[in-house]
Amino acid sequence: MNNRKYLIAGNWKMNGTLDSIGEIVTVDKESFELKNDLALCLPSTIIYSASKKVTNSQLIIGAQDCHHEEGGAFTGDISASMLKSVGARMTIVGHSERRLTYRETSYLVEKKATAAIKTGLQVIICIGETEAEKNKGETEEIVCSQLKNSMPEISNGQNTIIAYEPVWAIGTGKVARLDDINHVHRKIRTLVEELKGSKVSQEIRVLYGGSVKPDNAKEIFSLEDVDGALVGGASLKAEDFIGIAKQT
Ligand code: PEP
Repeated sequence: MNNRKYLIAGNWKMNGTLDSIGEIVTVDKESFELKNDLALCLPSTIIYSASKKVTNSQLIIGAQDCHHEEGGAFTGDISASMLKSVGARMTIVGHSERRLTYRETSYLVEKKATAAIKTGLQVIICIGETEAEKNKGETEEIVCSQLKNSMPEISNGQNTIIAYEPVWAIGTGKVARLDDINHVHRKIRTLVEELKGSKVSQEIRVLYGGSVKPDNAKEIFSLEDVDGALVGGASLKAEDFIGIAKQT
């Protein structure tokens, strides 16, 4: 047993308009019944409206990315302080879709995470291997290298959350084997201990992500080093998202 509170975080990706606020209101209402932390990382365009509707501080409204600079000539980008000003309390950084599509490196992810933490946002730092890397037996090496290079100096057990997301399990319906999840999560915690000491390693939450659904969440949450989930597709409907959160 440990003292870490589960966090179930939803990643809406490029989905959702003002018409979707009703789903967030439902999650907000249901969150009173739960003992976990919940987060919804939304498109930037609806963060303000969503944050105004949230009445339970256990439901965190978050973003999916931020720029590493405070402001300047960065057309189309959004800084951490801009996100905070519209009600975000958290942001994802280093999601594999950004690492792969926009070639974001761990070096850049670290700068984004540092900017977010300094602004007062919690960060979810995503790490995970591709299918090709898994097949070559490189999972540990990739995950450890991403973690080492993406985690800011100022990270601690409160301002940082790690999400282990095997890339091949995201949006595919494939879930990593339970013993593999447990092994990688333990490895992550051991590395955090080496980098930040045992207090941080015992406090930091390590989420699993990759096709988590209401019907497979319970067995994943039963693993000692799993402290919740980062959920994509199943976070879009309040019923499914709450269905997952109830499995802890
Ligand atoms: C994700 O986008 O981080 C994710 C885990 O997606 P899904 O739950 O749809 O696999």
